[in-house]
Amino acid sequence: SKSRGRNCYQFFSSDMQVEAQQKRRLLEELRTALEEEQFELYYQPITSLKFETEEGGVKKAEALLRWNHPQRGVVGPEEFIHVAEEAGLIRELSQWVMQQTVATVSQWYKQGLDDIQISVNTSPSQFNDGGKWIDDWIHAIALHELPAHSIMIEITENVLMTTDDSIKDQLSRLQQRGFDVAIDDFGVGYSSLSYLQQLDIDLLKIDRSFIQHLTTDNDSVALVKAIVTMAHHLGLKVVAEGVETEQQRQHVLNVACDYLQGYIFAKPVPKDEFYHRYLLGNAE
Ligand code: C2E
Ligand code: CA
Ligand code: CA
Ligand code: CA
Repeated sequence: SKSRGRNCYQFFSSDMQVEAQQKRRLLEELRTALEEEQFELYYQPITSLKFETEEGGVKKAEALLRWNHPQRGVVGPEEFIHVAEEAGLIRELSQWVMQQTVATVSQWYKQGLDDIQISVNTSPSQFNDGGKWIDDWIHAIALHELPAHSIMIEITENVLMTTDDSIKDQLSRLQQRGFDVAIDDFGVGYSSLSYLQQLDIDLLKIDRSFIQHLTTDNDSVALVKAIVTMAHHLGLKVVAEGVETEQQRQHVLNVACDYLQGYIFAKPVPKDEFYHRYLLGNAE
């Protein structure tokens, strides 16, 4: 009936109001968080499948953003990255991530750990500035006298979907300058495989959803196997993301993935903990 329709509408409308209000509040809090240094980078090791890097020290890790919220404690990026992106805060946030990463990695380099590489995430909207963000990276590593190969830039598949020619230019610029480039969450986007051949990529990170299904689903095994085979043909290395169990590790070992990243070896941890647990044995 008419009145029911109106009620529905009112309900929906106030729901949206609440949501909009929450978003505004979150955005305000994010601005404060940037000003007051409430963000922190955690690091999660990326190891060989046999963990032999455990003895020799970890050589690769991914930097993952955390928000030390004054009331809510540690908040993960899934809860705020999209809002930062929508609100145009992502540039500032990404610059903070970049500066932190470069400062930390250069500290480790100076301690003799000059064979590590840290992966950094990017947001699709970063690519909209025509590549100024790449200048920022070039500038930042030069300032800290850090070689570009100490940094791996992770981009999600969907970035490659746009018809924007500039993406291709930005990726080759990164490569020319010596940064490594990885495709993140591989397999979940709507991309075609052809760009793997067209673009200069170093690494594929197979999304956790495929790894989770490896133990229960033969199709997933076949799919992951095909991805690894193809990647190796093209000269790319492959990371299995989100490996949690020994059974999953056996599977990714069987399909010849090169690296794993997952709770089975380590969760993301704060900088100092990462250093003491995974790097220290390696320092001079
Ligand atoms: P991602 O890039 O795919 O990062 C991997 C995510 O999987 C991380 O979640 C990590 O903690 C989680 N993970 C790793 N191993 C396991 C496992 O064995 N099991 C399970 N269940 N999870 C595992 P996190 O840290 O919550 O980050 C979520 C996403 O937020 C990231 O996904 C990335 O897309 C985004 N993100 C994180 N840091 C940044 C950043 O600095 N900038 C941007 N733009 N995005 C970021
Ligand atoms: Ca990532
Ligand atoms: Ca490269
Ligand atoms: Ca991922």
